[in-house]
Amino acid sequence: MIHLNGEFMPIEQARISVLDRGFIFGDGVYEVIPSYSRRPFRLPEHLARMQASLDAIGIANPHPAAKWTELVTKIVAGNPWEDQSVYLQVTRGVAKRDHTFPKGLKPTVFLMASELVTPSAELMKTGAAAIVLPDFRWLRCDIKATGLLPAVLAKTEARQKGAYEAWYVDDEGFVTEGASTNAWIVTPENVLVTRALGTEILPGVTRAGVLHALANQGINAIEERAFTPAEAYGAREAFITSSGAGIVPVVKINGRQIGEGRPGPTTKRVQSLYRELWEQEA
Ligand code: PLP
Repeated sequence: MIHLNGEFMPIEQARISVLDRGFIFGDGVYEVIPSYSRRPFRLPEHLARMQASLDAIGIANPHPAAKWTELVTKIVAGNPWEDQSVYLQVTRGVAKRDHTFPKGLKPTVFLMASELVTPSAELMKTGAAAIVLPDFRWLRCDIKATGLLPAVLAKTEARQKGAYEAWYVDDEGFVTEGASTNAWIVTPENVLVTRALGTEILPGVTRAGVLHALANQGINAIEERAFTPAEAYGAREAFITSSGAGIVPVVKINGRQIGEGRPGPTTKRVQSLYRELWEQEA
């Protein structure tokens, strides 16, 4: 069951105009919210980020947070899986094709859910591989925009090379983030490092959750700063975070083994702290 512009229906019945600016220009924003045991995790944080994305591109939020919460709750209840990935999209709406957008368009609102497929137990046990690629995206990566062509190409290249994720590297030679994840390393001195927030990366809800969970434990060996692939190659551990995949150990980057080449103790600790955060908040 999906939701489109005020109505619930089976996905096969959902129709939008070919002139929807989301279809024509990728003129819209989205969120992906994990729902474990039918309880959406960190929904207010996702709704706040969506508000920031909408504000950044000048679309008035069609619903208050309470209405979004109701829609998400209904979608989760209306679909068969215990663990779901809830997808929520708002586009600028339907108009004659013209780059400049007219005022007063009615945004298109779409929600769907799919079974939450987390990385396999095997991958979590052995750890994932990543490749690095030039960051060929635009300069507002803080906006969760639906135009995902760079991620489509980067993820496909990663898969073709036997890797799970691609890490983007900016013009100065620093890792920004993964194609659909935030990137982390653990230095030889056991400091957790992830890029500081800015227009170069998406402010990951999982990234923020991990920082919150670490702060709760009084763990302050954390640096929010840029790091190079060379620093990552010499790291003790590396991992990636996202709502869809959770916290995934990275044990190989561009063919180079990271640390001991298997998920390390810090990554495992972060995974268990994050599970505890879910238990506290759910
Ligand atoms: N960075 C990018 C580019 C993403 O697309 C995503 C998620 O899709 C993330 C980071 C992780 O964000 P979150 O933890 O909110 O899922």
